[in-house]
Amino acid sequence: MRDRLRQYDPEIFEAILGEERRQQTELELIPSENYTYPEVLAALGTVFTNKYSEGYPGNRYYGGQTYTDVIERLATARARELFRAEHANVQALSGAAMNQVVYYGLLQPGDAILAMDLTHGGHLTHGSPVSHMSRVFDFHRYRTDADGRVDFDEVRRIAGEVRPKLVLCGHSSYPRELDYAGFKRVADEVGALTMADVSHVGGLIAGGALPNPLDAGFDVVTTTTHKSLRGPRGGLVLSKAEFGKRIDKSVFPGLQGGPHMHTIAAIAVALKKAAEPEFREYAARTLANAQALAGRLIEHGAELVTGGTDNHLIVVNTVASFGLQGREAQQALEEAGLATNKQLIPDDPLSAQRTSGVRLGTPAPTTRGMGEAEMVAVADLFVRAVRGKDDADEVKAVRAEVQQLCARFPAPGPISAAKS
Ligand SMILES: *Cc1c(COP(=O)(O)O)cnc(C)c1O
Repeated sequence: MRDRLRQYDPEIFEAILGEERRQQTELELIPSENYTYPEVLAALGTVFTNKYSEGYPGNRYYGGQTYTDVIERLATARARELFRAEHANVQALSGAAMNQVVYYGLLQPGDAILAMDLTHGGHLTHGSPVSHMSRVFDFHRYRTDADGRVDFDEVRRIAGEVRPKLVLCGHSSYPRELDYAGFKRVADEVGALTMADVSHVGGLIAGGALPNPLDAGFDVVTTTTHKSLRGPRGGLVLSKAEFGKRIDKSVFPGLQGGPHMHTIAAIAVALKKAAEPEFREYAARTLANAQALAGRLIEHGAELVTGGTDNHLIVVNTVASFGLQGREAQQALEEAGLATNKQLIPDDPLSAQRTSGVRLGTPAPTTRGMGEAEMVAVADLFVRAVRGKDDADEVKAVRAEVQQLCARFPAPGPISAAKS
């Protein structure tokens, strides 16, 4: 199949080879990215993409659903079991859609939602003013305290004032463990539903390395499937049984048309992988690697938001640590072959385009098989890359060492292209 593509559309094929080479030779430190399994890639590239299957197993609009029903039933059963959820929906096309599904399914337009401020670690889909959702629902935002940690006095104070219908927690840039029971208490005090968007840490929860908000009595949990869970791009909505019908209707016919069945097949494969003992080891190693990386960065004098991490991600204040804006640091690191992303820090005086920090994480290097010794080496390379960014020889030397490290720990997936 690859040969046919190569012959028919060399421009696209070359770009695919280029991306395979890039992924093999650069080290992915963006905490929301990962390298998926060859088995997942195999499931994605299948004829399920031809099939319309609006509806749910046993109740579809079109015929010919023998096999779509098989995969969707397997995917939902595996998701329920893995996350100890009473109900699972696997059709959301990605993370943004999965969160809209919950807002529209459980609330009315204009209802108040309490969520984390974007600049303090929240996500665009949690009612950022630039999102359409912020025009539909009445979002109120809590911020972290000066140390960068959730301030429950503030959460409780705003909840008392605005009486939200939904209390939402879960972030894209928060390096500390979340007190789900604390959020649940606040929600119970004002009669609100509870939702956790665990997109970043879904795999770490599945692997038993971090607590599961469903165990703390949360009503709904959403997670993307392509971050620490190592699956294809997609979204899971997990909930108590009582919300299942509303969630399903909110996905279809509420928000989406035909589900992407090739993706759902691949999600099912990733969920099978996540239930294996090896995945529990992966989740534990991802956390241990983050400790090693953070510890070594601190030894180098780096200033980290909250002073460290409890999970897979680290936010470095690059202005305080190296006198570099996040954008400049990201650029310097990329030239050395280390992929990170510029990141706003709490109360950042700089814009989202510039930022005072970068965010990095360990899910992807852990997938490559790297351990704590390699994380110490990566921290050393990180610091050399930002400190030596104006020294062309140093940048070249760091890049060569990154490539050697990557060659010792190949990413799963096609590697032949990297050598050609
Ligand atoms: C990544 C992420 C999303 C959005 O996922 P997309 O697949 O990019 O739409 C939503 N919420 C959180 C917390 C995330 O980290």
